[in-house]
Amino acid sequence: MANPIRMPEFCDVAVPVPLDAVFTYGIPEGMRPVVGGRVLVPFRQRRLSGIVTELHQRVPSVRLKNIISVLDAAPALDEKLLLLGKWIADYYLAPLGEVFHSMLPLGAEFKRNIGYRITEEGQLTLHLAGMSGSSARSRKTPEEQMVEFRVLDYLAERELTGEASLRTATRASRSLLAGMVRKRWITREDLSGARDAARTVKFAVLKNGEGKLNANQRALFETLAASGGRVAVEALHSLEIPRSTLGTLVKRGLVEIVEEPAEFTLSGVQPRSLPVSVQFNPAQQSALESIQQRVGARKFAGVLLHGVTGSGKTAVYLAAMRSVLEAGHSSILLVPEIGLTPAVAADLHQVFGAQVAILHSAFSDQERAEQWYRVKRGEARVVVGTRSAVFAPVKDLALMIVDEEQDSSYKQEEAPRYHARDVAVMRAKMANAVVVLGSATPSLESYFNAKKHKYALLELPDRVEQRPLPEVEIIDMRKEFQETGQDQVISRKLADEIRQRLERKEQVMVLLNRRGYSPLVLCRACGSRMECRNCAIAMTHHQRSHRMVCHYCGFMAPVPKVCGECGSEYVHFLGTGSEKLEELLHGLFPQARIGRLDRDTVRGRDDFERVLNALNSGELDLLVGTQMIAKGHDIHGVTLVGVVGADAALGFPDFRAAERTFQLLTQVAGRAGRGVTPGKVVLQTYFQDHYAVQYAARHDFIGFYEKELQFRSWMHYPPYSALANVLVRGDQLDDVLRWSGELGQWFSKTRHEGIRVLGPAAAPILRLKSDYRYHFVVKSASREKLNALLRSMLAYATQQKIPRTQVIVDVDAIWLM
Ligand SMILES: [Zn+2]
Ligand SMILES: [Zn+2]
Repeated sequence: MANPIRMPEFCDVAVPVPLDAVFTYGIPEGMRPVVGGRVLVPFRQRRLSGIVTELHQRVPSVRLKNIISVLDAAPALDEKLLLLGKWIADYYLAPLGEVFHSMLPLGAEFKRNIGYRITEEGQLTLHLAGMSGSSARSRKTPEEQMVEFRVLDYLAERELTGEASLRTATRASRSLLAGMVRKRWITREDLSGARDAARTVKFAVLKNGEGKLNANQRALFETLAASGGRVAVEALHSLEIPRSTLGTLVKRGLVEIVEEPAEFTLSGVQPRSLPVSVQFNPAQQSALESIQQRVGARKFAGVLLHGVTGSGKTAVYLAAMRSVLEAGHSSILLVPEIGLTPAVAADLHQVFGAQVAILHSAFSDQERAEQWYRVKRGEARVVVGTRSAVFAPVKDLALMIVDEEQDSSYKQEEAPRYHARDVAVMRAKMANAVVVLGSATPSLESYFNAKKHKYALLELPDRVEQRPLPEVEIIDMRKEFQETGQDQVISRKLADEIRQRLERKEQVMVLLNRRGYSPLVLCRACGSRMECRNCAIAMTHHQRSHRMVCHYCGFMAPVPKVCGECGSEYVHFLGTGSEKLEELLHGLFPQARIGRLDRDTVRGRDDFERVLNALNSGELDLLVGTQMIAKGHDIHGVTLVGVVGADAALGFPDFRAAERTFQLLTQVAGRAGRGVTPGKVVLQTYFQDHYAVQYAARHDFIGFYEKELQFRSWMHYPPYSALANVLVRGDQLDDVLRWSGELGQWFSKTRHEGIRVLGPAAAPILRLKSDYRYHFVVKSASREKLNALLRSMLAYATQQKIPRTQVIVDVDAIWLM
């Protein structure tokens, strides 16, 4: 007689490789993979961890490999998250295995974990290269040297760095890294050693089953049952029961031992005053009630919370999340990359205690895995994190909040190229939850959805305690030039206003959205500019570190004394970055204590916090910085914000340039006058008639959106169409021209109604990180048609043997550069 229950013999596995397919493997006797759980499989020459998508009996026609091991006894991705992953793969045309991979922060668990660190010798080498040039050195090719310096530069800015992220960032091969270790420029460390072993805990978990038990076994069994079926093995050892008893129960299948990472603890950051303890104004109160009411209905609803800068949105989020927690449900709050500082984390701990889990991209793999397990086990029902926290495995999701929903850090710039805000909306839909998108400057897309009544629009029109929005004065820099006869960085008016503030012991911020000293080095004799050898981008002079740096790929070169093209000595350094601005301000105000906030001064989250704390406590009078200074912090002493050259983006060939400029100007202006003394903004511009500048100066959001929507509608840009950027790249220009030509011909031969294809054209940045780049912009009012066309285009590309990694489809692209 046949066994009535046949075990499945095969499983389909989504493996993290750039291929649009799942792969079938055999299941060896005794292994029990589960759908949504991870398995380790052989793939070409590698061992990869993939997610099981199906168990079945269909005998494949080809000889199969077996899975190596089962990594999860229970699904790592539950049914809803599997569905969400499939939606992402479909919507963004991304390989399913890569999507699942990015949904789970568990990479550290099974691969050997190697890290690298720069040595003193490495630092010296880096420094000498900056001083003297890369002349007399080894037989290495220039390419290899370039990669070596990329590695040194990358490590110089970091502590111990994992191999995977180092190699992705620098494209260094393993053998090149090994060579650098031999030269003692870097050290190699095994991260999966004692440190991790010490940080895992073994648990005994009760399983279903029956059988006769002796007294000791029953005692242990009952202890487990009384503690919810789960006790740390360590704790059981303190019972008066022989240790072998546990082993017997495990052998009989009544108890299982699982090993999990130890609890995560936050470092000693002092919490600030409680943000939810303040009295709500009527607009905050009504926004909160409106959100709570929708959450109570347990149906999907979208809310756009549009609150001017300083209107107290965060307090509304936290209060809404607290009521969700009290009702026994879960919530997720997404914040931009830079929004989650240690102080914010400390606040959250004060409000939510041990119920909060924090998922941040700056955490180590190990830390992220720990937090993930706490959420998965239901110990933490409040999750706060950056982009990938949208996948946090919470149970019973009731509320999803996306703070600063317009922030570009929500869009992942590598495969899968998802937008966390849009994934949040879809996840809320699937969970019958409420999604709140909050911003002082909502994206055009979200505002448009609110206007179309897809989202409810909640407004916080006033600052807390009715503090006024700052007065904005526009300085026309063309006129300034005519009147003074020289190119000014700081206008006379701005200098005067700064002086007044400093005399009154008030604080000032000056924004210049460009780091480094001089952004352009030009030869006066032959006119050539110094470009990066990997990118068609001018290199920036960094004075303090004595080198030229490409801000796109990190390539560095010595500071030139003569022109690299003609040998002339007339090399000129032009323009101003934040480093030079700081120096200029020191010259103008020698008594002032000046700090700087940009990627050169901020290496980690702590640096960022430290500079802001110094400003907050009055140790600084003046803070200079890039857009980092514009983001959501609340410093009451700042009464003047100067904006220098923040409109440069208006000259870029990108349809979102006006939106971005408006958002940046509004955000930075919002830093002024958050305390008792009213604020002022001095906005220097070369585009004083541009509507983005004009509307930002008047704090007129509606005016800007109406105007910008009109432009988008005429040009068939989002939100009036779905848009994808198709980038064809390669290190040989001939290949790129041939491939983009083939795709161009295919696009024009294939009839597709209602779809516009622009291109092929050279991308605005023709060469980036050694790749030549051509692109198409594809637009359609119908997303279905757009995605269908892109799908057949990818199929055609495969047929033409164009490597899948060299054709990048970026659905809802936010950069077209
Ligand atoms: Zn020259
Ligand atoms: Zn470059």
